[in-house]
Amino acid sequence: MRPLRVAGFLDHSTVNGAGFRSVLFLSGCNHSCPGCHNLELQDFNYGEDATISKILSKILKNKLLIDGVTISGGEPFEQSTGLLPLLMALKKLELSIWVYTGYLYEDLTQDPSKSTLLPFIDVLVDGPYLEAYADANLKYRGSSNQRFLKLTQGKIETLLVY
Ligand code: SF4
Repeated sequence: MRPLRVAGFLDHSTVNGAGFRSVLFLSGCNHSCPGCHNLELQDFNYGEDATISKILSKILKNKLLIDGVTISGGEPFEQSTGLLPLLMALKKLELSIWVYTGYLYEDLTQDPSKSTLLPFIDVLVDGPYLEAYADANLKYRGSSNQRFLKLTQGKIETLLVY
Protein backbone atom coordinates (compact mmCIF):
# COMPACT_ATOMS: atom_id res chain seq x y z
CA MET A 1 0.00 0.00 0.00
CA ARG A 2 1.34 3.41 -0.96
CA PRO A 3 2.31 5.64 2.01
CA LEU A 4 0.82 9.09 2.29
CA ARG A 5 2.92 12.23 2.44
CA VAL A 6 1.75 13.77 5.68
CA ALA A 7 2.22 17.40 6.71
CA GLY A 8 0.66 17.08 10.15
CA PHE A 9 -1.84 15.36 12.43
CA LEU A 10 -4.08 16.65 15.21
CA ASP A 11 -5.49 14.17 17.71
CA HIS A 12 -8.55 16.35 18.16
CA SER A 13 -9.82 19.65 16.88
CA THR A 14 -13.11 21.55 16.96
CA VAL A 15 -12.33 23.94 14.10
CA ASN A 16 -11.78 21.53 11.21
CA GLY A 17 -15.34 20.29 10.85
CA ALA A 18 -18.34 19.65 13.07
CA GLY A 19 -17.78 18.02 16.44
CA PHE A 20 -14.58 16.66 17.93
CA ARG A 21 -12.35 15.39 15.14
CA SER A 22 -8.91 13.99 14.44
CA VAL A 23 -7.33 15.85 11.52
CA LEU A 24 -4.84 14.62 8.94
CA PHE A 25 -3.08 17.25 6.81
CA LEU A 26 -1.66 15.92 3.53
CA SER A 27 1.23 17.60 1.71
CA GLY A 28 1.09 19.07 -1.77
CA CYS A 29 -1.26 21.38 -3.60
CA ASN A 30 -1.32 22.92 -7.08
CA HIS A 31 -4.18 25.39 -6.61
CA SER A 32 -1.92 28.36 -5.73
CA CYS A 33 -4.76 30.31 -4.11
CA PRO A 34 -3.62 33.92 -3.51
CA GLY A 35 -3.52 34.50 0.24
CA CYS A 36 -3.13 30.77 1.08
CA HIS A 37 -2.45 30.38 4.80
CA ASN A 38 -0.74 26.98 4.32
CA LEU A 39 2.07 27.88 1.91
CA GLU A 40 4.43 25.18 3.16
CA LEU A 41 1.73 22.57 2.56
CA GLN A 42 1.77 23.39 -1.16
CA ASP A 43 5.13 21.56 -1.32
CA PHE A 44 4.63 17.86 -2.19
CA ASN A 45 7.84 17.02 -0.33
CA TYR A 46 6.89 18.78 2.91
CA GLY A 47 6.44 16.55 5.94
CA GLU A 48 7.06 12.83 6.04
CA ASP A 49 5.79 9.56 4.63
CA ALA A 50 3.38 7.60 6.83
CA THR A 51 1.85 4.20 6.22
CA ILE A 52 -1.91 3.73 6.37
CA SER A 53 -1.53 1.42 9.37
CA LYS A 54 0.49 4.04 11.27
CA ILE A 55 -2.14 6.71 10.57
CA LEU A 56 -4.94 4.34 11.51
CA SER A 57 -3.31 3.46 14.81
CA LYS A 58 -3.11 7.16 15.71
CA ILE A 59 -6.78 7.61 14.86
CA LEU A 60 -7.82 4.47 16.76
CA LYS A 61 -6.24 5.84 19.93
CA ASN A 62 -8.76 8.69 19.71
CA LYS A 63 -11.75 6.64 18.58
CA LEU A 64 -13.70 6.82 21.83
CA LEU A 65 -13.31 10.60 21.98
CA ILE A 66 -13.88 11.73 18.43
CA ASP A 67 -16.93 12.14 16.22
CA GLY A 68 -14.93 11.65 13.07
CA VAL A 69 -11.86 12.35 10.99
CA THR A 70 -11.07 15.30 8.74
CA ILE A 71 -8.64 15.08 5.84
CA SER A 72 -7.23 18.46 4.86
CA GLY A 73 -4.13 19.86 3.23
CA GLY A 74 -2.66 20.81 0.95
CA GLU A 75 -4.90 19.11 -1.56
CA PRO A 76 -5.95 15.62 -0.40
CA PHE A 77 -7.20 14.60 -3.85
CA GLU A 78 -3.63 14.78 -5.24
CA GLN A 79 -2.94 11.67 -3.13
CA SER A 80 -6.15 9.87 -4.05
CA THR A 81 -4.52 6.50 -4.71
CA GLY A 82 -2.86 6.40 -1.31
CA LEU A 83 -5.83 7.94 0.46
CA LEU A 84 -8.47 5.49 -0.81
CA PRO A 85 -7.56 2.57 1.50
CA LEU A 86 -7.51 4.92 4.50
CA LEU A 87 -11.00 6.23 3.73
CA MET A 88 -12.26 2.68 3.23
CA ALA A 89 -10.88 1.68 6.63
CA LEU A 90 -12.38 4.74 8.34
CA LYS A 91 -15.76 3.99 6.78
CA LYS A 92 -15.64 0.47 8.23
CA LEU A 93 -14.98 2.04 11.64
CA GLU A 94 -18.16 4.10 11.13
CA LEU A 95 -16.31 7.36 11.70
CA SER A 96 -17.66 10.40 9.89
CA ILE A 97 -15.27 11.58 7.17
CA TRP A 98 -14.86 15.22 6.15
CA VAL A 99 -12.51 16.10 3.29
CA TYR A 100 -11.38 19.60 2.32
CA THR A 101 -10.52 20.27 -1.32
CA GLY A 102 -9.68 23.23 -3.53
CA TYR A 103 -11.48 21.46 -6.40
CA LEU A 104 -15.18 21.78 -7.11
CA TYR A 105 -17.30 18.66 -6.62
CA GLU A 106 -18.48 18.90 -10.24
CA ASP A 107 -14.87 18.75 -11.48
CA LEU A 108 -13.97 15.85 -9.19
CA THR A 109 -16.81 13.76 -10.62
CA GLN A 110 -15.26 14.16 -14.10
CA ASP A 111 -11.85 12.82 -13.05
CA PRO A 112 -11.83 9.04 -12.49
CA SER A 113 -8.54 9.22 -10.58
CA LYS A 114 -10.20 11.45 -7.98
CA SER A 115 -13.89 10.52 -8.04
CA THR A 116 -13.09 7.11 -6.51
CA LEU A 117 -12.85 8.83 -3.11
CA LEU A 118 -16.29 10.45 -3.23
CA PRO A 119 -18.38 7.41 -2.10
CA PHE A 120 -16.43 7.29 1.18
CA ILE A 121 -16.83 10.97 2.09
CA ASP A 122 -19.64 12.21 4.34
CA VAL A 123 -18.97 15.93 3.98
CA LEU A 124 -16.92 17.50 1.19
CA VAL A 125 -15.82 21.10 1.78
CA ASP A 126 -15.11 22.18 -1.78
CA GLY A 127 -13.74 25.14 -3.69
CA PRO A 128 -10.55 27.19 -3.55
CA TYR A 129 -9.76 29.78 -0.91
CA LEU A 130 -10.79 33.12 -2.43
CA GLU A 131 -9.54 36.26 -0.73
CA ALA A 132 -12.53 38.25 -2.01
CA TYR A 133 -14.82 35.97 0.02
CA ALA A 134 -12.53 35.53 3.04
CA ASP A 135 -13.96 36.20 6.49
CA ALA A 136 -12.20 35.30 9.74
CA ASN A 137 -15.59 34.79 11.42
CA LEU A 138 -16.63 31.94 9.14
CA LYS A 139 -16.97 28.54 10.76
CA TYR A 140 -14.97 25.58 9.39
CA ARG A 141 -13.89 27.40 6.20
CA GLY A 142 -11.76 30.31 5.08
CA SER A 143 -13.94 31.89 2.41
CA SER A 144 -17.69 31.90 1.89
CA ASN A 145 -17.55 30.43 -1.64
CA GLN A 146 -16.53 27.09 -0.10
CA ARG A 147 -19.49 24.71 0.22
CA PHE A 148 -20.33 22.03 2.78
CA LEU A 149 -21.67 19.20 0.65
CA LYS A 150 -23.29 16.28 2.46
CA LEU A 151 -22.61 13.28 0.23
CA THR A 152 -24.35 9.93 0.13
CA GLN A 153 -22.67 7.26 -1.98
CA GLY A 154 -20.72 10.00 -3.74
CA LYS A 155 -23.78 12.08 -4.70
CA ILE A 156 -24.79 15.43 -3.21
CA GLU A 157 -27.58 14.85 -0.70
CA THR A 158 -27.80 18.38 0.63
CA LEU A 159 -25.91 21.61 1.17
CA LEU A 160 -25.09 22.05 4.86
CA VAL A 161 -25.03 25.46 6.53
CA TYR A 162 -22.77 26.37 9.48
S1 SF4 B 1 -6.30 24.78 -1.82
FE1 SF4 B 1 -5.70 25.30 0.30
S2 SF4 B 1 -3.54 24.65 0.49
FE2 SF4 B 1 -4.04 24.75 -1.69
S3 SF4 B 1 -3.34 26.79 -2.33
FE3 SF4 B 1 -5.55 26.90 -1.87
S4 SF4 B 1 -5.66 27.54 0.29
FE4 SF4 B 1 -3.55 26.83 -0.09
